[in-house]
Amino acid sequence: MPAIHSQSERLSLEAEQHLPGGVNSPVRAFRAVGGHPVVIQSASGCHMTDVDGNTYTDFVGSWGPMILGHAHPAVISAVQQVAQFGLSFGATSPREVELARAIKRFYPSIDLLRLVSSGTEACMSAVRVARGYSEKPGVIKFEGCYHGHSDCLLAKAGSGAMTLALPDSAGVPPSVTQHTYTVPFNDLAAVRALLAEKGQEIGVIVVEPVAGNMGLIPPLPGFLQGLRDLCNEHSMVLVFDEVMTGFRLSRSGAQGLYGVVPDMTVLGKIVGGGMPLACYGGRRALMEKVAPLGPVYQAGTLSGNPVAVTAGLTTLEQIDAQPDLYQHLESIGAQLQTGLEKILQDTGVVGRVQRVGSMWTLFFTDRPVVDYVTAKTCDTQRFASFFRGMLEAGFYLPPSQFEAAFLGAAHRSQDIDAFLQAASRVLGKVS
Ligand SMILES: *Cc1c(COP(=O)(O)O)cnc(C)c1O
Repeated sequence: MPAIHSQSERLSLEAEQHLPGGVNSPVRAFRAVGGHPVVIQSASGCHMTDVDGNTYTDFVGSWGPMILGHAHPAVISAVQQVAQFGLSFGATSPREVELARAIKRFYPSIDLLRLVSSGTEACMSAVRVARGYSEKPGVIKFEGCYHGHSDCLLAKAGSGAMTLALPDSAGVPPSVTQHTYTVPFNDLAAVRALLAEKGQEIGVIVVEPVAGNMGLIPPLPGFLQGLRDLCNEHSMVLVFDEVMTGFRLSRSGAQGLYGVVPDMTVLGKIVGGGMPLACYGGRRALMEKVAPLGPVYQAGTLSGNPVAVTAGLTTLEQIDAQPDLYQHLESIGAQLQTGLEKILQDTGVVGRVQRVGSMWTLFFTDRPVVDYVTAKTCDTQRFASFFRGMLEAGFYLPPSQFEAAFLGAAHRSQDIDAFLQAASRVLGKVS
């Protein structure tokens, strides 16, 4: 029976009267795939239910945080318990210390860290600290990598790697991004060429070690180590933005998986267990630059608030309590990838599945996607019809070709089988 979306439609039309595009974050508006967004009432495990009573198997997981599944009983109960004792104190409380200690146990590369309230804030602050430490203004970022919406990181390449980045967004004056240099992801030669010309001015490289914000793009062999070596050679600070990959690709994220150690790490999403919490941290010498120890200012009224901290801490405790978590994610990830690849072959649909652990994308293109330019070769119309077909069949995917999909502990092998059966039908029609 086809899903009915009348309440979703009514509410999203009403939302448009009050919120730009009817949403509080743009990709939720379904602009890239057409139609009205479904409005979600509740979620549990790997399922979400909309306001019309339709239930979906969810492959978004709130864009990453829900590695344990939605409304995990331990997390919900801990949050309920702690909320009785006050929502925010504006002073240090015991669990902040516990969470900091727990994060350091997962991330041996972090000596000191600071808790903040969003990934955007954490990335912005990490770059400020890295610049403050290196005393060089230039920042290298990679085209198609997303580090939140702070002004100086909202930049992509203008016309090639050597040009100064132009701002991505209206309202960001070019003077604000004049020290932001963008190069193609996975292109060490471009980084080297840029450094040969501008090395004196550049103090920071910030990268998603596995790119997840242009669809899922793994680092090519040697790319991350190459960045590490260049940072050593040129006295630059290497910042891994692990907001998406942290606690997901391994206990210690991409740095654990690939064995490359950054100077600073940014964490978000999973570290807050679904609440607004993120952090940045790294080597002591860098983090001692942060106020009140040092001259780099950064602060936050709700930073480390007890409810968010409790959601994060309980999530990390649950990760510890599930020793086979990452094996499970790899196993259902492999099942999904193998199944989708077979369907592509059988239906003749041109596409490729790219995956690292529990993060994956089905790209509708004929070539390996290694950077922003190859990602842009995708047939986004075909993605849109795949997305809509899967939504009707009860599977909630990211509503954009250029966003990674996520698996979590709550997905079982049977959920993947059901997804593959539906995908086979839907892809049979879009070919
Ligand atoms: C989501 C994300 C951010 C931004 O985090 P918000 O909490 O949305 O501000 C930054 N970097 C990466 C890699 C992300 O995936």
